[in-house]
Amino acid sequence: VTELLAIRGLRVTFRAAGRDVHAVRGVDLSVAEGETLAVVGESGSGKSVTMTAALGLLPENAEVEGSIRLRDRELLAMDERALRSVRGAEIGVVFQDPMSSLNPVHTVSRQIAEAIRAHSDVSRGAAHARAVELLGEVGIPDAKARADDYPHQFSGGMRQRVMIAMALACGPRVLIADEPTTALDVTVQAQIVDLVDRIRRGRGMSVIWISHDLGVVAQIADRVTVMYAGRVVEQGPCADLFDAAVHPYTAGLLRAMPRLDSPAGAELEVIRGSLPDPEAQPEGCVFAPRCDHAQEECAAARPTLLPLVAGGGHAVACHRSGELLDHGRVVPARLGGSPT
Ligand code: SF4
Ligand code: MG
Repeated sequence: VTELLAIRGLRVTFRAAGRDVHAVRGVDLSVAEGETLAVVGESGSGKSVTMTAALGLLPENAEVEGSIRLRDRELLAMDERALRSVRGAEIGVVFQDPMSSLNPVHTVSRQIAEAIRAHSDVSRGAAHARAVELLGEVGIPDAKARADDYPHQFSGGMRQRVMIAMALACGPRVLIADEPTTALDVTVQAQIVDLVDRIRRGRGMSVIWISHDLGVVAQIADRVTVMYAGRVVEQGPCADLFDAAVHPYTAGLLRAMPRLDSPAGAELEVIRGSLPDPEAQPEGCVFAPRCDHAQEECAAARPTLLPLVAGGGHAVACHRSGELLDHGRVVPARLGGSPT
């Protein structure tokens, strides 16, 4: 499999009024052609900042180190103009809140047509026709008639479909979806997840799906990267993580996931405590204050991300990974299990 987008040693520091906020502290991740990578973690874990860096959309006060390559091109070395052409034409993006990205005073077809014309030399008429086609592809019923409606005339789920159509306008090779379903109800969430997966398969596109909820990505991800406090703590094939999560943080996320077989009204487990202050991270393992398995050794040195089996795809940053190999075994009913 060819690596499409590869991030290596990424560090992002926001410089503000004499203090530095280290949001991303050395992240490695990549997505292959046609693959879905899920990037999972609590808000503040650095997952959105990592992807915003890949899009070249970080604010001026962000200092970025490392490497972000799209195939053989280094995005961190590109100027704004070159990046703008990569964004849209090769990397598409869908954010959580479509209303902040859609212009309320223009019809949806006009906005999609403009996105098409920004990157290719086609007539207005052809761009409009293509916009209607895209609205059909993302499952807007009666796309031809709805094309001339304004964003507020669509429901939340339909608006998110419009955003996906816009992100697809120039045929990107990778789609970055940053919590696109978080504001939607569970049924609509599932429909959007299915839609993106169907489009990925149809187009042979790659998808990077950012979420705080492992459950959302369980069915579509090929691989999962779990981030905590600006670092990757576990990554590997999706099935490995669900079947045998090793890092106590990943295991906690799994236990916090709603299950189809939970009795009605059952309370979900939550991971106690909260993310460390990014300006004052503890020495050693940053997860230690919240970890039920923490021992003295954990505070002594920072664990690095290491493959569980030499050369294998499942890697964990935990001093006790050898002992914890089986402790996180959770089989969520959403995976393979059918609702009863
Ligand atoms: Fe817990 Fe120690 Fe592993 Fe950190 S290194 S996750 S504190 S067991
Ligand atoms: Mg976010």
